[in-house]
Order: sequence, then structure tokens, then C-alpha cells
Amino acid sequence: MRPLAAIVDLSAIAHNYAVAKRCAPGRQAFAVVKANAYGHGVREVVTALHEVADGFAVASLEEAAEVRAMHGEARILLLEGCFEAGEYAIAAQLGLDVVVQSAVQAAALLVSELSRPLNVWLKLDSGMHRLGFDAADLRQWHAHLQGAAQVAELNLISHFACADERSHPLTEQQVERFLDVLDLDFDHRSLANSAAVLTIPAAHMDWLRPGIMLYGATPFADLGVSALGLKPAMTLAARVIAVREVAVGDSVGYGATWVAERPSRIATVSCGYADGYPRHAPSGTPVLVSGQRAALVGRVSMDMLAIDITDLPEADIDSSVELWGASLPVDEVAAACGTIGYELLTKVTARVPRRYIG
Ligand SMILES: *Cc1c(COP(=O)(O)O)cnc(C)c1O
Repeated sequence: MRPLAAIVDLSAIAHNYAVAKRCAPGRQAFAVVKANAYGHGVREVVTALHEVADGFAVASLEEAAEVRAMHGEARILLLEGCFEAGEYAIAAQLGLDVVVQSAVQAAALLVSELSRPLNVWLKLDSGMHRLGFDAADLRQWHAHLQGAAQVAELNLISHFACADERSHPLTEQQVERFLDVLDLDFDHRSLANSAAVLTIPAAHMDWLRPGIMLYGATPFADLGVSALGLKPAMTLAARVIAVREVAVGDSVGYGATWVAERPSRIATVSCGYADGYPRHAPSGTPVLVSGQRAALVGRVSMDMLAIDITDLPEADIDSSVELWGASLPVDEVAAACGTIGYELLTKVTARVPRRYIG
């Protein structure tokens, strides 16, 4: 069997959920499990959080149906709302909480015939300019939706653009715009993603929406998981499948982009871009071999990559390799590749078996 797996520590996810709750005593939290629980496997993550999570948040009706099949009672929040008018009836059958982020969505809701009224989360565009109503439109739709037959709870939601950059001026503005519409009557309020859960108590409101922190990656460029008290959930684990010596001037890999400047020992590792390891990872990107740091060399291939183990004489065929995980934060690998942990985690492909521990 090909020696590659994403080992997912479910107890780490439960720990991280508890950290989110501890940041905001008395508040409730939707565990964000969109995109297959950020690549970790939505079934297992929902099962692991079944008893403790106050609710779950997803990006589509398809994802919501999958969560509902595993959890009959949990609140499930559809973060982007319905994409077609016909989805409201299904959302009602599934008993979802729906975001209403546009006039089209609001109007379609008001002409839907539903088996039961929905909990509606009116979305304020507080400054991200991606989804939601400006304050004036939000006030109007609040008036239309309040008391409508299709509406059970009427709630308020908004999303930060820059909460990951601490003390960005837009963040304060967004909190202010959110507070500005709280003279309206809402049942519940929700504003905080992971970054805000961890660092902006004024944004905690009633319902948190932690995503990335549950998986033990950081939303911040300058604050790592260990400082935040989070445990990495996924370890992408491979093995050394071949070792060779190369002479000065020899190149390694496609395009011959890396050339040995000293006599080098090169290990070939069983993980490539078809597994979700970023093809654009530059030479020098950190990798752990038997727990020790080594550097990626040359281009990442579809199924393999190469690392320089010249300074690790005990490394050999079958040595364990951690591409990221418990001992090498995914955020550090992401930074080396010019991206964020979110992207690396969500892009681990289906051919990588997930193994669950904890
Ligand atoms: C994905 C998402 C979240 C979670 O964000 P993290 O940065 O992963 O915590 C919260 N709210 C909305 C609307 C989202 O789309």
C-alpha cells in the first residue's frame, strides 16, 4: 500500500472546539464544517463533536443534508443561504438555519411555501463587500421579514474581512456597523470567525463561528497555533521510498530546477501534488524526516517529492515523513508556499486515505 495518509486526531478537534468556547464564556458556537470539514472528513468531525457542538455551519444545501443525516437535532447554518428559490422548501424539511444575504434571496423566501418556518440570519455587509445588505436595505428587509409566515427566528450575521490582521482599522469599523443596527429586534447575533473568537471579545455576540481554529491551524500570519493553545488535527504522513547520492552539479526532478551545490543525499517521498501538496512549494520548504527538519528540493511531482537529507545520516528508505501536522505546523508550510493553512488543508485530495485517531 502506498505509504501516505492524512492522520486526523479527533480529540484535537474536540479540544480546539472547547478552546473556542472558553474564549467566549456563555456563548454558543457553530462548528464550521464546510468543505468536508476543511478536508478532515465531515462525517467523522460531526460525529466527534456530536455531543458538544451547539451547531454546525456549512456552505451548501448538499453539505447541510450530509450533516443532518448524521445529526437529527443540531442547528445547521447555511452560510451563503439558498442558491435557488426551490432550495427553501428543502431547507425547511431539513430544519436548517439560513442566511439571507441578498434581495433576491429575501424575496424568494417570502413567496416560498414551507413545511415549517426557518430561522433566518439576515446578513449585514459590514465592510467585506462580498455578501449581505447595507444598513439601509437591511432595515427594510428586517421590516418585511419580521413576522412573515416563513420566518421563525430573525437573526443578524456579518463576516470580517481582516480579523486575521490584528488591529486592522476595517475590523473596528465592521464591529461599529454591526452594533449600529442592533436597535433592530434580533433573536440572535453572530459575527466572530476564528480570528475574532481568539482576539476580539467585542465581536463575540451570541453565536461564534470557529472554522480554521477547530482544525488546529492559525488564522493569523504572526501568531502560531501553540501560542493560541490549539492542537493541529491533521498530520499528512508519508515515507521515504528511495534514497540516492547526487554529485555537485546534478539536478533533481522535473525541469532540473534544483542543482546540488555539494555532494548530497536525496530522499524521494511518497506525496505529490495529486495528493494536495502544493506544486508551487519552493525548494527549501520545510519537511520532517523521522522528526527532524529537512528541505524540499526541486519541483513537486504528481505522486512524489524530493528532500535533501544530507545532514540526516540516519534517514533512509522507510523513514517516516511529516509534510505537515502535529510537529510541523501547516501554517509554516503554507507561509513557505505563499498561501494559508486553509488552502493546504482543504486541498488534500480524495485519494489520500484519512485515518482517525483520538
Ligand atoms: C468559513 C466561514 C467562517 C469560518 O472562518 P474561519 O476563519 O475558518 O474561522 C465563518 N463565517 C463564515 C461566513 C464563513 O464563510
